[in-house]
Amino acid sequence: MEKSAEEKKTAYLTHELRTPLTSIICALELLRDGGLAAPEGAKLIELALGNADRLKTLINEILDLSKIQNGTLRLSPVACDPAELARASVESLLPWARRKGIHLSLKASVSCGKVYADPRRTSQVLLNLVSNAIKFTPDGGTVEVSLEPGRRDRAGNTLVCVKDSGPGIAPQDLARLFRYFVQAGPEDRRAEGSGLGLALSRSLVELQGGEMWAESALGKGASFFFSLPVHVEAQNSEPQARVNATKSSAAASFCHHGAPRA
Ligand code: ADP
Repeated sequence: MEKSAEEKKTAYLTHELRTPLTSIICALELLRDGGLAAPEGAKLIELALGNADRLKTLINEILDLSKIQNGTLRLSPVACDPAELARASVESLLPWARRKGIHLSLKASVSCGKVYADPRRTSQVLLNLVSNAIKFTPDGGTVEVSLEPGRRDRAGNTLVCVKDSGPGIAPQDLARLFRYFVQAGPEDRRAEGSGLGLALSRSLVELQGGEMWAESALGKGASFFFSLPVHVEAQNSEPQARVNATKSSAAASFCHHGAPRA
């Protein structure tokens, strides 16, 4: 009998959760039984730590997904500096980029101004996009995060771009990638992921009143854009967004279709 979409999702998630856990258990058993000497023992510990990290990320993503689906995800927007958030994300991923010989840079002007956004959730979006760019870009490539004062989306929101020199994305995959559990490209490129990151990121941006989309051509790298409402200083009142976030469709729909914006 053909499996339902829900059954397929459960089977996929079970597999994704079990694989790193099994690997951690094997590593611990080997260490317990064999007392492996260095450097094998140290390598095994690194492997187990990597898998534990993967498991933690996936569990957090599943929890976020369920909060978005049942409308209980709470955002705490404040006036914050997007260049500062971008700098912190770039810095935290620099060691990984260096290990891959990737030139990771930040282009941000001090005069970009503040946005009205949840700093933790915005950092989560930035980390997801920059991690993807590093993950999919071959050794020796480039990844640039940029934020310029003159760049706005159609609604006048502040625009952030993460651009890489990686393999790029086929036109038919550009919109699909923002759906939950969708991965694309060759099998070996999918191994490290869950297909949840971009869909969650887009929902987090839309819930804050922004937009997210990707522009790419196969073999020509990829650029991911997202926007956040500009912060305005309101007299005698709380900080707020320049354009009040319209009620987002993010919580209601999980099959967004990205559309390139001007
Ligand atoms: P994951 O990376 O966990 O598989 P994501 O939702 O973050 O899930 O990404 C979905 C898919 O989008 C990836 O599997 C990959 O095929 C594609 N993708 C994301 N970022 C890039 C990028 N910078 N370059 C090429 N492909 C990308």
